[in-house]
Amino acid sequence: MKVSQVYKEKKDKKVLSFEIFPPKKDSELKNIDETLAVLCELKPDYISVTFGAGGSSNCNRTIELARKIKHEYHVEPVVHLTCLHYNKAEIDEFAKVLSDAGLENVLALRGDKNPNFPEKDDFKHASDLIAYMKERWNFCFLAACYPECHPESDGVVNEIKHLKTKVNSGAEVLLSQLFFDNDIFIRFQENCKVADINVPVIPGIMPVINAAQIKRMITMCGAAFPLRFQKIIHKYEDNKEALFEAGMSYALSQIIDLLASDIDGIHLYTMNNPLVARKICEGIRKII
Ligand code: FAD
Repeated sequence: MKVSQVYKEKKDKKVLSFEIFPPKKDSELKNIDETLAVLCELKPDYISVTFGAGGSSNCNRTIELARKIKHEYHVEPVVHLTCLHYNKAEIDEFAKVLSDAGLENVLALRGDKNPNFPEKDDFKHASDLIAYMKERWNFCFLAACYPECHPESDGVVNEIKHLKTKVNSGAEVLLSQLFFDNDIFIRFQENCKVADINVPVIPGIMPVINAAQIKRMITMCGAAFPLRFQKIIHKYEDNKEALFEAGMSYALSQIIDLLASDIDGIHLYTMNNPLVARKICEGIRKII
């Protein structure tokens, strides 16, 4: 089923989606089966599977995993697909494999620039990928959005203008980068409405549950860390179990607050951790 349809059919209810990444090593393939079994038991409306950055050998695993989610676990998958390091013929090859496997949903991305992988000329932005594929293939397209602007952004106005281009190209659902301050997301959602972006704009939530992850977040994603959150992390950073509980509680309170606002769903970055997904689902079971 196309994910855009899921949002239409659940109009008065919230859509719950999970994100997972394919294992890097063969030895982790068994774990992913155990993870999937728990995640699918929680009955998300769909699960998206990330795609390795430019030229990574993990790309085939993305498709394999998506195929498994659909045909073995009977949950709708969304396949992430980046374009900066591919040409049109290569994208068509991927599209054919996806289509032959009965996969109907693509999160179309530009992908990060990476000096180790040469960029190709056919696609400069996600909107180019969506426009190209939409003419040839019958997928539902999702796209990424950034409540705190993309790191390469030249300002909110242009960021929203480019997002509108993505939607005009055919993106039917927007999944957001993680954030820790709900007010920032609500303001972004309002800016989207002002710009006449009328597709679901879905908040992406990542529970912060360990110290290494926090350090990675600070250097990589540029999300604002509200003082309230900083205090919690500072207080529990040396106590693994307490930090896990505190991080989960923070994410849960973010989600509950968002569910009380005008949103169509929640996209949970599960980090392939079934305990995280289970705890969040238990926390919102009665209200979603
Ligand atoms: P774009 O939409 O092309 O935007 C990139 C920048 O260019 C932005 O500043 C934008 O404002 C600007 N821009 C966009 N269109 C135009 C235009 N027409 N003209 C001029 N400027 C423009 N990466 C992976 O490698 N694999 C994944 O699986 C993956 N999954 C992700 C999932 C989510 C939900 C999110 C939020 C991100 C994900 N990423 C993933 C990261 C993503 O690939 C990077 O953030 C990348 O740098 C930008 O991708 P994009 O599709 O948003 O690019």
